[in-house]
Amino acid sequence: MNALAQAFPAGCGTAPVLRERGQREVFCGLTGIVWLHRKISDAFFLVVGSRTCAHLIQSAAGVMIFAEPRFATAIIDERDLAGLADMHEELDRVVAELMRRRPDIKLLFLVGSCPSEVIKLDLARAAQTLSRKFAPGLRVLNYSGSGIETTFTQGEDACLAALVPELPQASADAPPSLLIAGALADIVEDQLRRIFGELGVGEVSFLPPRGSGELPAVGPKTRLLLAQPFLAATAKALEERGARRLPAPFPLGAEGTAAWIAEAAQAFGVDPARVAAVTAPRRKRAQEAMEPFRRALAGKSVFFFPDSQLEPPLARFLSRECGMRLIEVGTPFLHRQHLQPELDLLPEGTLISEGQDVDRQLDRCRAEKPDLVVCGLGLANPLEAEGMTTKWSIELLFSPIQGFEQAADLAALFARPIDRRLRLRI
Ligand code: SF4
Repeated sequence: MNALAQAFPAGCGTAPVLRERGQREVFCGLTGIVWLHRKISDAFFLVVGSRTCAHLIQSAAGVMIFAEPRFATAIIDERDLAGLADMHEELDRVVAELMRRRPDIKLLFLVGSCPSEVIKLDLARAAQTLSRKFAPGLRVLNYSGSGIETTFTQGEDACLAALVPELPQASADAPPSLLIAGALADIVEDQLRRIFGELGVGEVSFLPPRGSGELPAVGPKTRLLLAQPFLAATAKALEERGARRLPAPFPLGAEGTAAWIAEAAQAFGVDPARVAAVTAPRRKRAQEAMEPFRRALAGKSVFFFPDSQLEPPLARFLSRECGMRLIEVGTPFLHRQHLQPELDLLPEGTLISEGQDVDRQLDRCRAEKPDLVVCGLGLANPLEAEGMTTKWSIELLFSPIQGFEQAADLAALFARPIDRRLRLRI
């Protein structure tokens, strides 16, 4: 148990969870491409899907007119669905054409979708064949972003898990290293690298890396720090490679970031006085910058619909650092082990729900009339029309929100819709 949880033993750590298994309103895992394609500079994401999938990616990412995008869709049409054409041949043709135009691509992800699942297209086999054909210049991997199998952020989990077998083995005599898993904005990575450098934590690497040639090594001396709460498959694959996961709250807000860093520092034997000297001034600055937003949010109530799996750490941040009242914290999946340090910090009695039965949840939300609803795009507009104030959870994946320097920006993301509603009323 980390120091924070020891100080606040009540929490929701052992509280029962309301499990819902009804209709859900969430995006599929293809959405992850929108932020992942910016991270690995020489990677390309080829969705094997329908025109609907292509449309989703284009509209979610914004149509890139001036830049050559690093994602595309190989369209499965009616002939493929009816088994009249060989989709493998089609895929070969699309990839050959892509590589002719874009020889700079070194890592290609074939991303499965609902249609490719339905016609049982063997993308793993296709990836192997293409890897052999384009070796050594191109590595081809596959994962599923299908809405049948994944929700919104699980696309990133599936993508990173597909990368794990490609990571080199750390040599037995290498010193312990820190691996931070979960896509973070470059600016956040740079800040964290500086902090761990000041603490004297040796080698620090990130998954995903910025280039396919920078895959971090992994082995029994790797200490794994999750930067995102939705990486169940990735963490499992890394642990199977010998990495040891450090249990910590997630780096959201000043408190969460301090606890997350302290957990890693402790694993590397850094003197607590040094940890305090490095983090305390940053934490103080973050709290000062957050103050105007904290004033706007304190005492207000918030209701989370399940969408991104970021809900428990966000709820902890809004409750403990911004003084908000939690009505319900919904999450699509609750990974007890990974989320335990967060659950321990939630106020006792918080209603936590896992999965979704959207109509029942809407009833609970309407009955409570919260000051702020955090939800997916599909629910936000109807709820706004009913007079509720909403925050799109997808925005939290596109914005740099982790770390000390982003704590005030994170609070501002929640304060802004409340402020806008207040102005509209006036
Ligand atoms: Fe729709 Fe499935 Fe394609 Fe996602 S993968 S856009 S849910 S058809």
